Amino acid sequence: MATDLTSPSFQQTLARPAVVSGRGLFHGIEAKVRLLPAEENTGIVFRRTDLKWRPEVRAHVDHVSAAARRTILESSNGAVVETVEHLMAALAGLRIDNCVVEINAIEVPAVDGSCLPFCDAILEAGINQQTAQRSILVIEEPQCVNDRANAQWIEAIPSMNGIPTVDYQLDYGPTAPFSPQSFAVQLTPEQFLNEIAAARTFVLVEEVEALQARGFGRHLTGKDLVVFNTDGTVVDNKLRWADEPVRHKILDCIGDLALCGRSFSGHVVASRSGHKLNHVMAKTLSTIEQGTPMLSRAA
Ligand SMILES: [Zn+2]
Repeated sequence: MATDLTSPSFQQTLARPAVVSGRGLFHGIEAKVRLLPAEENTGIVFRRTDLKWRPEVRAHVDHVSAAARRTILESSNGAVVETVEHLMAALAGLRIDNCVVEINAIEVPAVDGSCLPFCDAILEAGINQQTAQRSILVIEEPQCVNDRANAQWIEAIPSMNGIPTVDYQLDYGPTAPFSPQSFAVQLTPEQFLNEIAAARTFVLVEEVEALQARGFGRHLTGKDLVVFNTDGTVVDNKLRWADEPVRHKILDCIGDLALCGRSFSGHVVASRSGHKLNHVMAKTLSTIEQGTPMLSRAA
């Protein structure tokens, strides 16, 4: 069946396999990802094809392993897949419910630092609507998680029109190379593709030096992601939007919240949150039984 990007009612998968290759952001290891069509109610499952027994890990917050600056999935059977958040955002943004992600290395390719190449590969392969209904979590009661020590919080509140929305406020403080930014987007596939999918990973130049001193990202140059100098200029690159950083934070948020295992209908407002707090909200959403909303909880 042809792709119907406007219909959120039924589950969707890819029409045929899609392939994306490239080096991982942190480890720099060349990897090939194959996005395979999957049966209804499969969800998103990663399979490490380079390991004996080809172990799998489901893309769910219950399998998130603690790590700085990225999202890592790990299962007890030895399947570890790092930096899944941008691929997860592409799948969630295009409303792919079911997909087996075969990967032959530990880390998902960084591509251009955004998730647009994943979206392009998925759209090129085509999207098939399936017959099972999607499971959509309707946010009926406000949910709030926060990290007071770092002045971060995320709130999920009911949506007036049923369309999921993510609203993000970014503020790196008075010494940051860019001013505070805020952006909001309705999570339709069209809006996701037009406003969010191409927003790239960004770092501050001093963060690059610290990461490289720890052995991460030594292969990276200013062409591979957005590196901000302390004066707000960008190293060897150009911004795609003046507010590209806040758009990328929304991309990360979408990818991380998808780990709750369901689509949601609600309005998410996030302030300064990163992967760690995003995972706390994903966990909160994952534990809501529809019709009996859980109480809000703090991080
Ligand atoms: Zn990111």
